[in-house]
Amino acid sequence: MNYEDYFRRQLDGLRREGRYRVFADLERKAGAFPRAAHHTPSGEREVTVWCSNDYLGMGQHPKVLAAMHEALDRCGAGAGGTRNIAGTNHYHVLLEAELADLHGKQAALLFNSGYVSNWTTLSTLASRMPGCVILSDELNHASMIEGMKHSRCATRVFRHNDVADLRSKLSDLDRDAPKLIAFEAVYSMDGDIAPIADICDVADEHGALTYLDEVHATGLYGPRGGGISDREGLSDRLTVIEGTLAKAFGVIGGYITGSHTVCDFVRSFASGFIFSSALPPAVAAGALTSIRHLKASSHERERHQDRVATLRRKLDQAGVQHLDNPSHIVPVMVRDPVLCKEISDTLLDRYGIYVQPINYPTVARGTERLRITPSPLHSDADIDALVTALSEIWAEVGLARAA
Ligand SMILES: *Cc1c(COP(=O)(O)O)cnc(C)c1O
Repeated sequence: MNYEDYFRRQLDGLRREGRYRVFADLERKAGAFPRAAHHTPSGEREVTVWCSNDYLGMGQHPKVLAAMHEALDRCGAGAGGTRNIAGTNHYHVLLEAELADLHGKQAALLFNSGYVSNWTTLSTLASRMPGCVILSDELNHASMIEGMKHSRCATRVFRHNDVADLRSKLSDLDRDAPKLIAFEAVYSMDGDIAPIADICDVADEHGALTYLDEVHATGLYGPRGGGISDREGLSDRLTVIEGTLAKAFGVIGGYITGSHTVCDFVRSFASGFIFSSALPPAVAAGALTSIRHLKASSHERERHQDRVATLRRKLDQAGVQHLDNPSHIVPVMVRDPVLCKEISDTLLDRYGIYVQPINYPTVARGTERLRITPSPLHSDADIDALVTALSEIWAEVGLARAA
C-alpha cells in the first residue's frame, strides 16, 4: 500500500467538502486581548479575535500572570511526574480544594485537560460498574462520546435536552441496572442550556447517577462562577460536575468534582489519571488565582453579559441572523461549509477580524456557522467593526436578512 498517497487522498476529500481546517498563525498579546498578531507569508498584522474561549480574558489577568511567574520561579517548569510518582505538588492540593468548594462538593480531581477528564471519568465509572447503561444527550461533546465508547457499555442516546425522551429510555431499562446520565450545562455550539433540575428529578426517579459537563459555564454563571448548577442551586443534586481550566479560567487543565468516594474511585482506577504526568505547578497556581478572583468578583461576568447583549442588539439592527439562546455564545448561521470558510477568510483578510468557521463534524452538515464569543474586553468600537463587516459581506454574498 502507498500510505502517503492514501493519507493525501483522504485529505483531498476534506478539501472537496470545504471542511479542511487551516489554522491562523496567531500570537496572543498579553495586555491587549482580544488583539493578536496574525503571522502571514506577507508579514505580521494586528487582528481582533472574536472566537476565543478565553471568555473573560483571564489568560492575561495580571494576578494570574503574577501567580504563574511566582510558582514558576519557586517550583520550576514541570511537575516531575505523575501524581502517584513525585508529581503531586502543593498547588495541586490547593487547586483541588478550591474546585471542590467552587462546586459545593467534598472533593475534586485534576486532569491534564477537560477532554481527558471527560474521557477518563466516563470510561472509568461506566466500565467499572458491571451492566452499567449510559444515557447520553445527543449533542454531547466528542470527549464524552469517546469516553463512553471506550467503556464498552450499552449507551442510549436521548434527544437533545428532551426530558420526556430520557424518561422513556430509562423506563425501558432493567430497574436494577446501574445507570449514568451524561449531559452538558451550556452546549457549546448552539449555546442552549440543559433543564438540569428536571434531569436530576428523572435521575432520582430511576436511581441514576448524573454527570454534568460545565465546561462552557464555569467562571461565567452563578454568584461565584460555579456554572449553571451554581446559579440554579443544584450543585448538590449532581453526582459529578466536570469542568475545564482552559476556557473562562484562561489557563489549561480539566477536573471533576464529586463526593470523596467518587473522586477517590476515579483517582484509584482511571488509567488517564494514574499514568499521565501532572499539570505544571505554575499552571495550577495560575488556575487557582483565576478561580479565586472570579469567585469574589462578578464584574467580569456582568460586563461579559453586557457585551453579549450589545452584540446581539446590533446584529439584529443590521438584520444579521443569529441563533437565539440564553447564553454568551452567539452563533451566526451560514448553513454552507464553503461559504462559511469564505466569509471567515474575508473577515480576516479584509477586515482584520478573526472568527473561525465551524463546520462538520463539530456541528451537523447544513448548520455551518460563525461562532462568535464576545468578552468583557471587546469595546463598542470592536462590536461596531464586526457588525459592519458582517453586514457588508452579507450584502456581497446575498445571504438572507431578518426582517
Ligand atoms: C472544550 C470542551 C471540553 C474539553 O476541554 P479542554 O480543557 O479544552 O480539553 C470538554 N467539553 C466541552 C463541552 C468542551 O467544549
